[in-house]
Amino acid sequence: MAKLPLHTEFDSISSLSAALSSRALSARELAQSALDAAQAHASLNAFVHIDPELTLAQADRADQRIAAGQAGPLTGIPVAHKDVFVTQGWRTTAASKILANYVSPFDATVVSKLQLAGTVSLGKLNCDEFAMGSGNENSAFGPVLNPWNTRHVPGGSSGGSAAAVAAGLVMAATGTDTGGSVRQPAALCGVSGIKPTYGTVSRYGMIAYGSSLDQAGPIARSALDLVPLLDTISGFDPLDSTSLEYCQQTPNQAGRVQAMFNEHLAQQENAGSNPLAGLRIGVPREFFGEGLATDVAQAIEAALVVFESLGATRVDISLPRTKLSIPTYYVIAPAEASSNLSRYDGVRYGHRAAQYKDLADMTSRSRAEGFGAEVRRRIMVGTYVLSHGYYDAYYLQAQRVRRMIVDDFQHAFNDQCDVIMGPVTPTVAKTIGDNRDDPTADWLADIYTLGISLAGLPALSIPCGFGGPENNLPVGLQVVGNYFTEGQLLAIAHRYQNLTDWHQRTPELA
Ligand code: GLN
Repeated sequence: MAKLPLHTEFDSISSLSAALSSRALSARELAQSALDAAQAHASLNAFVHIDPELTLAQADRADQRIAAGQAGPLTGIPVAHKDVFVTQGWRTTAASKILANYVSPFDATVVSKLQLAGTVSLGKLNCDEFAMGSGNENSAFGPVLNPWNTRHVPGGSSGGSAAAVAAGLVMAATGTDTGGSVRQPAALCGVSGIKPTYGTVSRYGMIAYGSSLDQAGPIARSALDLVPLLDTISGFDPLDSTSLEYCQQTPNQAGRVQAMFNEHLAQQENAGSNPLAGLRIGVPREFFGEGLATDVAQAIEAALVVFESLGATRVDISLPRTKLSIPTYYVIAPAEASSNLSRYDGVRYGHRAAQYKDLADMTSRSRAEGFGAEVRRRIMVGTYVLSHGYYDAYYLQAQRVRRMIVDDFQHAFNDQCDVIMGPVTPTVAKTIGDNRDDPTADWLADIYTLGISLAGLPALSIPCGFGGPENNLPVGLQVVGNYFTEGQLLAIAHRYQNLTDWHQRTPELA
């Protein structure tokens, strides 16, 4: 029987996979332990829906595949999905009252691809309502607690995903990132997470927030674990109109991400004692100004020194529109959200008010009752910036600035550096309730992640130290690359993780 939590016994997906293929333990035993662990740590509030029968049925199928010698690297591995991915069987709520009882008739592409690879899903993970938030405090099901210190937020919006991985309840989880929601909770929970290039992972069946920004990404312990996960979920999908055909994966061949990872790893090996020789790391000065806490700055600085010791060089760069990414994002994302969320009208599915006068009253009451405060705030902002007379002043202007932000990144990658590194968040995880009276305080804390989302670039977060008053709250390092360089970013992160053990530290659970 596997010990609880999972990471006390298995430090990587491949070591767990080896145990499964050697039949030292069965996928069913493993799934049962994981279900027990999830129950034992239910107070973290990471899960919103667990259905042991569905989980064990997937585990049995994984065992059959292993027995038949048809297992892949993810067969039997316990995972879970952020509750914005629709799933057959498990409820899909987007952590909103408006979808409290919704069960999808189909699976999101990300979910079905992971299922095809043989993963065993433990169920659905808590998040900010419709993925709007930075602390997981905007969930209709209550906040998720940070496993490192349960008085603190896990980050958001994929807070349940990061907390479940950090607590060892699953080996990996899916998340979504519209403006930082994979990278930020990964950073605050001391785990690794990657947001890939926009368009490389299908959005089909991912409940829409800001469609020009939304992108799925995996969260796991290490960069090495992220490789097969991202490789599995990437690829062209005709069911998503913004999916890139460039990403078509050829059958019987390692996928695009795995292939690029292998290639870069081989290059590193050949470079001998300076594996990252030639790598130019752009360090944007705007990421180290006012607002960055000293403990975070120190951990990032120490990580940069490690990269230099591996042969990389550091280049001072400027991303001059960094500050403008906040108003730009908080015009565009709410504008798209107000349009996307108009489908929750009480007519077709979702919550419907019990009493109403006529159709208009039914819709307005259903929405007022179903949506939480932050979601209503975003819908109002979005409707306003799209309305006649304000469209040009706000929405169109934001689109122009978005283009300039893209240009800033392209200038850096074309002329100055190969990757960009910096903090993910200005501070370590806040105490639950800290920003209750100031809805825009959370928005400001997104400053280092939003520009990358507006530009559609790939970026990952890896643990690089601790901070906070008791020095027990994780700090994340952000590594940003040019379009389609996910495999390279993961190889660079893996090299760092070979030399450091931040990603192997685990919280002590009560
Ligand atoms: N914090 C940002 C927001 O609230 C980003 C959320 C996300 O990436 N889903 O919109």
